[in-house]
Amino acid sequence: MTVRVQDEVAPAYRAHCPTCRKSGRQFRSYGLAEQAAGGHTDKFRHTTYVIDHYGVRVTGSTQRPEPT
Ligand SMILES: [Zn+2]
Repeated sequence: MTVRVQDEVAPAYRAHCPTCRKSGRQFRSYGLAEQAAGGHTDKFRHTTYVIDHYGVRVTGSTQRPEPT
């Protein structure tokens, strides 16, 4: 019988804002974390990016507010 330890290896993503020094809730999907990061960027005009379950920034995930 094999015990699956999926929870320990499943990828997880969260939006991170270095301005607020806060990370959002954890998502199983990169796309959802990216949407959350984009929402924060639109709302607070902060640059955000997505980090993975190691806390490492995902390359290319940085979102900057639109210049006014
Ligand atoms: Zn912020």
